[in-house]
Amino acid sequence: MASPVGGWICIRCGFHGQPMKVTKGSFGVELLLWLFFCLPGLIYSIWRLTSRYDACPSCLAPSSMIPANSPEGQRLLAMHQASTPSPPTPDMPK
Ligand SMILES: [Zn+2]
Repeated sequence: MASPVGGWICIRCGFHGQPMKVTKGSFGVELLLWLFFCLPGLIYSIWRLTSRYDACPSCLAPSSMIPANSPEGQRLLAMHQASTPSPPTPDMPK
C-alpha cells in the first residue's frame, strides 16, 4: 500500500513507523508440499500469498496500523507523545 505522509501509527501500542508484511505459514512447509505433492503445494502457496497482511512491527497486531495523518492517527500520536517520558529538566537540583 502507498505510504501516507507522516507514516503509520499502531492503534494498539502507538508504534510510529512503517507496517511490516507478514506472511502466514512457513517456506519450509511450502517447499515440502511442492516437492512431494504438486497440487497441495500450489494451494498452500496461494493461501500464503492471499493471507499476507500488514502488521505492527512492534506488537505484531494485524491490521492495527493506521495513517498517522488521519484524525485518529493525530490523536494517537499526541497521546503517545504526551505519555513518553520527557528528558529530566534540571530545574530541581538536589
Ligand atoms: Zn503495535
